[in-house]
Amino acid sequence: MDSFDPGKVAVRSGHFIGGKHIEEGTQKLQVVRPSDGIAYASIPVASAEMTDRIIENAWTAWRASGWGQSAPRDRASVLRRFADLVAADVETLAPLEALGSTRPIREAAAWDVPFTAEGIRFYAEFADKIGGDVAATDHDHLGMTIAEPYGVVGAIAPWNFPLVMASWKLAPALAAGNAVVLKPSEATPFSVLRLAELAVEAGVPPGVFNVIQGDGHTTGDALVRHPHISKVTFTGSTRTGAAIMAACAQSGTKPVTLELGGKSPQVVFADAPRLDDVARRIATGVAGNAGQVCVAGSRLLVERSIADDLAGRIARILGERKAGATWSRDTTLSPIISAAQAARIESIVQRTVAGGATVLCGGCRAEGEAGGAFYSPTILCNVNEQSEAVREEVFGPVLTLQTFDTEDEALALAQHADYGLAAGVHTADLGRAMRFVRAIEAGTVWVNRYGRTSDFMIPTGGYKRSGVGKDLGRQAYEANLRFKSVLIDIRS
Ligand code: NAD
Repeated sequence: MDSFDPGKVAVRSGHFIGGKHIEEGTQKLQVVRPSDGIAYASIPVASAEMTDRIIENAWTAWRASGWGQSAPRDRASVLRRFADLVAADVETLAPLEALGSTRPIREAAAWDVPFTAEGIRFYAEFADKIGGDVAATDHDHLGMTIAEPYGVVGAIAPWNFPLVMASWKLAPALAAGNAVVLKPSEATPFSVLRLAELAVEAGVPPGVFNVIQGDGHTTGDALVRHPHISKVTFTGSTRTGAAIMAACAQSGTKPVTLELGGKSPQVVFADAPRLDDVARRIATGVAGNAGQVCVAGSRLLVERSIADDLAGRIARILGERKAGATWSRDTTLSPIISAAQAARIESIVQRTVAGGATVLCGGCRAEGEAGGAFYSPTILCNVNEQSEAVREEVFGPVLTLQTFDTEDEALALAQHADYGLAAGVHTADLGRAMRFVRAIEAGTVWVNRYGRTSDFMIPTGGYKRSGVGKDLGRQAYEANLRFKSVLIDIRS
C-alpha cells in the first residue's frame, strides 16, 4: 500500500470501554492532521470522575472475566489470534495510522502495522514461560516465588508511533494477565481504537483492554493516580515522565516504567567501513519520521580527518528527502506533528545559529502539502556542548556536527549531561567499539548500525533522565508481574 485518499478513511472517535465505543465527555478536543493542518475529528475528554469510573469498571471486568487466572496457554492463543487479526487488518489500520500521524503510508503499512502484530505475538509466547521459581532452601522447607499479574495497568502513549508504542505497553501487560487502560496521545487518538476492537474480536474479554481519551493534565493524571491502577507504564517526554513518577509516588508508591526523551550521539571514526553506508545510516537516524523519534541520532561526532567528506555525503542524502502528506506515494520526509512543534524546531535552530552555528544544509521550513508544517533536514556545524541544539531534544530532523581527534575526546563529547537513551559507534576496530560500549552511559548502543531490528528480545530503555525500566524483551514482560514469595514447612 503506498497511497490513500484521506477523505475516505472512516474514523471512530470516543473511548473504548467494556468492549464498546462510548462518546461520553462534555469537553471536546479537536484533532488536527499534521499533513495539512485540517481539524478532521474530535475526541471527548474523560473528566477525572469519568476516568475513576472507567478504572473501577476495568477492575470489576478484570476480576469477573478471570483473565488473570486463566490458563496461560489460553491467553497465549487469544493473543496470537489478536496478532493475526492486526496483521490481516493492514488495509484498515495503516491508513488510519497514517491519516492523523506523521507516519507515511508506505512505512505504516510495511512496518508499523506488521511490527505491532509481531510485538503482540512475541508477548503471547511469554504467557506460559515465566511462572516463578523454586528457591534453594533447606530440605525442611519448600520456598518459591509465584508470578502474578498486578490487576489493572495504566498505560500512556506518545504520538510519534501511535500503534507501535501502544503495543509495547499493552502486549506484555495483557500476556501477563493484567487488564489495561490505555490513554493514547490526544494528537493521535484513533488507531488504537481499532486495535481495541480487534482485541475483543480475538477473544480478549470486554473490559480487559480499554482506551480512554483525553488530555494529560485531566485524564492522564487521574489515570495514574487511581488506587486500582497498580502499575503505570509511560512513553513520552522527560518532563511528563517526572510528573507521572511524582503522581505515582503520591498516590500509592506504585511501580512505573518510563520511556523518555533522548539526545543520542552517533560517533564515527576515520576507519569506519563503507562511508557511504555510514552516511546513509546517519541520515536515516536523524531524518526518519522527520526526526520525531526518541532514539534519533541527533548528535554527529566525527573524527576530524573525514568530517568534511562525511558531512557532504550526509547532506546529499538528506537533500533527497521529499516532504509531503502521509497519504502521498512520494513522501519521504514526514510532516511535523503540529505547527507549534515546527515553530519550536525553527526557533531552536535560529537561536543556535545566532550563537555561532553554521548551516550546512536545511535550516528552514520545507515545502510540502498546503496547510502542513514541514522542516528541511538540517546539519548545524560550529556547535559545542553549550549550543541549544546540542543540549536539547529538538524532535525534528536536525543534526549537529562536532569533530574530535582522539578516542577520549569522542567519548567525552558523546556523554550527554542529562540523557542516555541510545548511541551509535562506527569503526572497524572491535576493541575501540567495545571500549565505547562499556564507557557510554546509554541504554542501547548500536555498533556499525543505527536503529533497532525486529528482534523483540532486545529491550529498549534509557539511562539517566531518558527513563526507568525497559520496554520489549523479557524485562518488559516481568515488569508486568509481581512476585509472591511462599515458604512451606514440610517437616514430618
Ligand atoms: P508528552 O510527554 O507530551 O505526552 C505523552 C503522553 O503523556 C500523552 O498521551 C499525554 O497526553 C500524556 N500526559 C501529558 N501530561 C501528563 C500528565 N501530567 N499525567 C499523565 N499523562 C500526561 O510526549 P509526546 O510529545 O507525546 O512524545 C514525544 C516525547 O516522547 C519525546 O520526548 C520522545 O523522546 C519521547 N518518546 C520516548 C520513547 C522511548 O522509548 N524512550 C519513545 C517514543 C517517544
